[in-house]
Amino acid sequence: MPDSTFRPARPLPYGRQHITEADVAAVTAALQGDFLTQGPTVGEFEKQFAAYVGASYGVAVSNGTAALHLCALALDVQPGQRVITTPLTFAASANCVRYCGGEVHFADIDPATGLIDLQQVRQLLAAHPKGHFSGLIPVDFAGLAVNLEEARALADEHGLWIIEDSCHAPGGFFLDAQGREQRCGNGNFADLAIFSFHPVKHIATGEGGMITTNSEQLFHRLLRLRTHGITRDPADLVRESDGGWYMEMQELGYNYRLSDLNCALGLSQLTRADEGLARRRQLAARYDAAFAQVPGVAVLAPGRTGHAFHLYVIEVTDRKGLYDYLRTRQIFTQVHYIPVHRMPYYEDLGWRAGDFPLVENYYAHCLSIPLFPTLTDEEQDYVVACIVEFVNLSHAD
Ligand SMILES: *Cc1c(COP(=O)(O)O)cnc(C)c1O
Repeated sequence: MPDSTFRPARPLPYGRQHITEADVAAVTAALQGDFLTQGPTVGEFEKQFAAYVGASYGVAVSNGTAALHLCALALDVQPGQRVITTPLTFAASANCVRYCGGEVHFADIDPATGLIDLQQVRQLLAAHPKGHFSGLIPVDFAGLAVNLEEARALADEHGLWIIEDSCHAPGGFFLDAQGREQRCGNGNFADLAIFSFHPVKHIATGEGGMITTNSEQLFHRLLRLRTHGITRDPADLVRESDGGWYMEMQELGYNYRLSDLNCALGLSQLTRADEGLARRRQLAARYDAAFAQVPGVAVLAPGRTGHAFHLYVIEVTDRKGLYDYLRTRQIFTQVHYIPVHRMPYYEDLGWRAGDFPLVENYYAHCLSIPLFPTLTDEEQDYVVACIVEFVNLSHAD
């Protein structure tokens, strides 16, 4: 029986990084190498990460937000262009469109999964002439993969590109119509996919991000945009070379590079990615089993195949009460997310409360509880016991 009198030896956040001796040794070795930035470790991390998700190319960048920005640039998002995304995401998924002057539109979620509802996307597209929208940015929310085979079919009907925001889902997959596993970020359906290596995500590099794709053309464009729009590749020059130093700035790019130090950490973390994912899935199954017995606690998308479990989300009546109570028990939960269209910045652009009732209802009840690979069974039992205690107390009132 779970025990709420157990005292955890450390505060329990909703997510945290796991740094091993091997990670420290890998970063130390990189520090002692010849390159601190853009050395051989960057290319190695790109190659191995792309292989991990099953894509042809990887481009390492300074963070997930920079990855989204570069994707929007590489797909030529222009002022006034309209792009559809989910309101249930971190604001960066939408902001990348704004960086390029585009207009963000939203489709409501499927409340059973938290994912953008492709039926609602279809209705939104059908209500406008072809060409009205340019792109779609679905998000593998909490680690559950969007069915990109269906999204691709819809996108092709309407001439849209797809950026898959896979920040929550390295190692996640969905089953396609033939029953084959399609890994998040594998580039089979989306034009581009992005990942973040922020410490709360599966793989930590401090700051860091990655774009994966199967398009050689987009890959080359991304490499150029990542470093000021400059190329040195003889095959890409538009003028004749003046000599060995010659390079060309061909378009307006940025410095969104990731350093060798970060990539050394990423490579080391990547060797444990499967292990971490297996532990996340094991912990999620334990939560599923525990909460199945508790009427006051609903679980978002339990028992889904291919779920990568960045987050474990429960839904309760008195969410604020539970959040505050758990803090007194050293359990630091989080809310993912305040819907993007409810942010003051997006409300200034015309969005309002009531525009997307399903995600707004989800937001009123959701709570992400501790889930990370080093969470022990004992700590997890304590989390469950505290939640059950609160829910029973509030039902007794
Ligand atoms: C973390 C995250 C981002 C942004 O990544 P950063 O590395 O923090 O810039 C974008 N989208 C989603 C869904 C995220 O979870």
